[in-house]
Amino acid sequence: MLTDIEKAREILKHQFGYDSFRMNQEPAIAALLDRRDCVVLMPTGGGKSLCYQIPALMFDGLTVVISPLIALMKDQVDALKANGVEAAFLNSTQSAPEQVQVFRDVRSGKLKLLYVAPERLLQSGDQFLDFIRGTNVSLFAIDEAHCISSWGHDFRPEYLRLAILKKEFPHIPVIALTATADKLVRKDIFERLALDNAELFISSFNRPNISYTVEPKRNSYGQLLHFLAERKDQSGIIYCLSRNSVDSLAADLRDEGFSALSYHAGLEKQTRDRHQTAFLTDETKIIVATIAFGMGIDKSNVRFVVHMDLPKNIESYYQETGRAGRDGLESEALLFFSWADVTKLKGFAEVEGDLRQSEIMLKKLDLMGKFGELRTCRRRFLLNYFSEELTDDCGNCDNCTTTFEKFDGTIIAQKALSAVYRTGQRFGLSYLVDFLRGSQAQTIRDEHKNIKTYGVGADIPKHNWFDYFKDLIGQGYLAQTEGTYPVVVLTEKSMDVLGGRSQVELRKVIVREEKKAKLVADVSLPYIQDLFDELRQVRTAFARAENVPPYVVFSDATLVEMATYLPQADWELRKISGVGDLKFDKYGADFLRTIRDYSVKNGLESRIGLKSPKRERSRTKRDANGKDTYRISLEMFRDGKNIPQIAAERGVQPSTVENHLARFITTGEVTLEELVPPHKVYPIRQAVIKFNETGALSPIKEFLGEDYTYGEIRAVIASM
Ligand code: ADP
Ligand code: ZN
Repeated sequence: MLTDIEKAREILKHQFGYDSFRMNQEPAIAALLDRRDCVVLMPTGGGKSLCYQIPALMFDGLTVVISPLIALMKDQVDALKANGVEAAFLNSTQSAPEQVQVFRDVRSGKLKLLYVAPERLLQSGDQFLDFIRGTNVSLFAIDEAHCISSWGHDFRPEYLRLAILKKEFPHIPVIALTATADKLVRKDIFERLALDNAELFISSFNRPNISYTVEPKRNSYGQLLHFLAERKDQSGIIYCLSRNSVDSLAADLRDEGFSALSYHAGLEKQTRDRHQTAFLTDETKIIVATIAFGMGIDKSNVRFVVHMDLPKNIESYYQETGRAGRDGLESEALLFFSWADVTKLKGFAEVEGDLRQSEIMLKKLDLMGKFGELRTCRRRFLLNYFSEELTDDCGNCDNCTTTFEKFDGTIIAQKALSAVYRTGQRFGLSYLVDFLRGSQAQTIRDEHKNIKTYGVGADIPKHNWFDYFKDLIGQGYLAQTEGTYPVVVLTEKSMDVLGGRSQVELRKVIVREEKKAKLVADVSLPYIQDLFDELRQVRTAFARAENVPPYVVFSDATLVEMATYLPQADWELRKISGVGDLKFDKYGADFLRTIRDYSVKNGLESRIGLKSPKRERSRTKRDANGKDTYRISLEMFRDGKNIPQIAAERGVQPSTVENHLARFITTGEVTLEELVPPHKVYPIRQAVIKFNETGALSPIKEFLGEDYTYGEIRAVIASM
């Protein structure tokens, strides 16, 4: 007899194709199977859905999932059906006959999961609740549970009425899930859903593979071009505040030769869908979007997220940047920050007729501003916001990787403070900087032009002045008022500086480690990019035929595993994460054929033996002793052995060894000359340029002929 949790594991493997649970999935599932309520906090992409989907399959009756995201319901249901789970949704986008069919399927007990919007659940006269009462319900799952809290960023009043569930169905377990919840929101979830005895499962919100950088919003377009130019092959999202800026930025980037499309709610649905699909399938590398884009996007290889404008709060920033790096690989978040944006957003933050709500929104906005200006570890700040402690600085944000030089800034400080003093403490930063620099602009009042301080700072560039002011504010020598038009005022500490009684230390950036842009990002990874691309085409064909998004067929993570471990036989494919029973039956043969063909053409064999039983793909492949298999070849090569010798000793094909060594060209540990005779380099380059459109190596090899090996070709590609 299997225990409950063993049964759950069987379902995880057979229905969903995964080897082991992630984070708190297992204890949360165990709690539900025990009929205990639970509240699950997990970051985006963490795997919240399985927490209720697996119990749903184990309970006799129906699981009702309450979700506010009507637009996503179809995809969620499609994804379940693709794994052979009977699921349906009810919402306003459906025709009457469609809805009738759903009701019928609920009554007949055919459905395991039913997705509904909260307003639907609580429809007039509790009709729907009555209907539910008449069926065999086993579980309620409340998705996006932070919507219940006015402290959250996405308050939905209809969520308040969900308390009725626990009252009307006291014996049916409830699971509430969210990706964003600070302490106050958490408290609201428990109280307002009446989940007094619920168990709380919190996973860490840290996303260590995302690096955070903030740049001042000056010439942000120029900065962006520079950033993108170093990341040509990477996929990313660029967020803008307005639809207009989305359209114009996308067009500008296309003019610059980037593969970029736009996405916002003002586009026709067809266009929007087309752009989204192009992005999901990597046909387009960059999507320029308003925040309308991204909800429920399951694209694992997003390498960067750029914010051209300020998000309205930390939750949004965290969620939007969190769309990068779901595959666990290094990714970047870049924000262009200005206080002008804070001021602008304040206009939108007011919630009409709701003073308290407006206040909360403004506070959140101010914190976002603080994040922009932060001089300390950004990850610490973010995690702290979500009530998590990080014991050390992260070493992976701009502040951690920047070195400042401290210098005696007393004179500069005196100039700045006296500018504030002499203009009467009634002006904002920009005005003060212009004043100090002796700007001729009309905006400078005539009477100010006669003050001695006017123009005394002309020798210092504008952006440095801004930095110095912020530093002075940060150190408390000046203060900035709150409100829509913040002005700079003096503080208690100011007088000592003005009176020459205290020294001021300021700082200047001296070194900022350039983030190494990984040009051919994927060559250094263990998976084979061109096979991955071929598999993606197979996936696209299925997705089109079934009219579902590609990730419903297989996620990128699954294809990456296939392109890493090269399964050749049925049982090997079954070991790939994400290949459940139904998907295996439906798609297995086609994917296997593609992998086999590729392997034969390139002289490769299955590497399934290297797949560790752990579900998370390790970044580098390791041998049985945990040693990086690539590195072993490198070490032997460094010991003076040649490729055939290494191959013989390790019991692998010479092509495999060549492959190993080629990876180290990108890291600079092996030079091209060591692997390819000089006279061969040029012809290979030419052939690559000519034939590499599809990403497949075989046309190149065919063109070059017998004298050239795959390893040599790969090495040259890596060097390019
Ligand atoms: P969330 O709702 O928390 O944002 P999802 O439930 O959509 O996340 O899951 C994110 C992705 O991770 C999905 O592709 C899902 O299939 C996958 N996933 C979930 N649990 C596991 C697991 N235990 N092992 C491997 N992949 C998983
Ligand atoms: Zn840091």
